[in-house]
Amino acid sequence: MNFPSSNEAFRSLIRAWLSEHYASFTQQWPTPADPRDLDFRRAWENHLCAHQLSGLGWPKEYGGQELDLAKQAIFHEEHALCGAPLGINLIGHGILAPTLLHFGSQDQKQEFLPGILSNQTIWCQGYSEPAAGSDLASLRTRAIKTSDGYLLNGHKIWTSFADRADWCFVLARTDPAQARHRGISFLLVNMHQPGVRVEPIRQLTGEAEFCEVFFEDVKVEARYLLGEENQGWRIAMAAASFERGTYFLPRLVRFQQELNNIKKWVGTNTTNTNSTAAARQRWARLAVDSYVLKLKSQRALTAAISGAPPGPEGSSTKVQWSESHQSLLEFALELLGEKVCQAIPYDQDQEAAQFVHAYLWSKAETILAGTSEIQRNIIAEKILGLPKGA
Ligand SMILES: Cc1cc2nc3c(=O)[nH]c(=O)nc-3n(C[C@H](O)[C@H](O)[C@H](O)COP(=O)(O)OP(=O)(O)OC[C@H]3O[C@@H](n4cnc5c(N)ncnc54)[C@H](O)[C@@H]3O)c2cc1C
Repeated sequence: MNFPSSNEAFRSLIRAWLSEHYASFTQQWPTPADPRDLDFRRAWENHLCAHQLSGLGWPKEYGGQELDLAKQAIFHEEHALCGAPLGINLIGHGILAPTLLHFGSQDQKQEFLPGILSNQTIWCQGYSEPAAGSDLASLRTRAIKTSDGYLLNGHKIWTSFADRADWCFVLARTDPAQARHRGISFLLVNMHQPGVRVEPIRQLTGEAEFCEVFFEDVKVEARYLLGEENQGWRIAMAAASFERGTYFLPRLVRFQQELNNIKKWVGTNTTNTNSTAAARQRWARLAVDSYVLKLKSQRALTAAISGAPPGPEGSSTKVQWSESHQSLLEFALELLGEKVCQAIPYDQDQEAAQFVHAYLWSKAETILAGTSEIQRNIIAEKILGLPKGA
């Protein structure tokens, strides 16, 4: 695809392409296309990659499109607006690829970037452990140096898509004698090798999108250490900032779409216990949240485009988005009324089925990528300048 230089022309091109391709892709799907289905999500992600709609910001020498951040944001916004779901290799495209481009050796880039670009290699992120989530620096997974690499032993948890992943980037302790944040290394681990055991965890939604991962005497070759030994913490912190500017865009588009969808029920649905006035007020409150979130997202994007370093403001967006989204979905379920108590087949009432699924899933949103309490700690200390808690 040849991309025009003006942002408006780029938006029109992407909108037209997505509208045509997503419609025909869903029509050709053998069963009623369900955007929650992981196979459907992967197949659609493959389709985008097959049409050179991946690696949007990567340098051309690695097969990327070298699009600036404004155009990448337009793509993510239009992709969400057309109703297409997020893929299952988000961690590969959004976190590992930019990390490899920044910190990887030439050999590592050549080995791993093509698989992400084509979506042939699915990645997962092995950070959290049963006793190391918010306090990640207390992680205990151990990588002991051998003659040709490392021997990895440990237990990771909540590892999204680990049962579908081909590779995992793992934070492991390589020098226990050093202070907590030091002595940690960033290792690239093949999931299809002896000693790697994956146990899916069933979620509230009935799906198993994340897993426990056990590493038992897993061999990691020295060439799969990313960056320098014991510098993994610095790399992990940088990796977390690479999606800045675009991470919230699809989520905010979805918020606005859900808000538009429930508008038609407010005041007309006789099964809900809200008075019409109260329901309208609740809807209006959510509409204000949606608008404020849009402004925050535009401000973050503008700052990222101008090259400003990531600041603590993202914590405020994370708390507001996740908590308002939970309120929106609670409201939607109240408006749906008794339908919610029935098992709704997706093809019978797609809208209700999707709202119930989104409601159950949203319980994770105040936990993943830093819990609300942790985000509030950051806001308190770094934005409001309050003293650190005991
Ligand atoms: C859907 C989903 C997908 C995920 N995917 C991944 C993944 O792919 N890879 C990965 O590595 N991890 C993943 N995670 C894990 C996620 O990063 C952790 O759940 C998160 O960091 C919280 O850690 P924890 O669950 O161990 O809770 P804990 O850290 O044990 O926290 C328990 C409670 O204590 C509170 N708390 C903890 N410390 C403080 C404090 N200092 N001040 C105030 N309150 C505090 C927390 O807010 C929370 O309410 C995922 C989680 C979810 C929900």
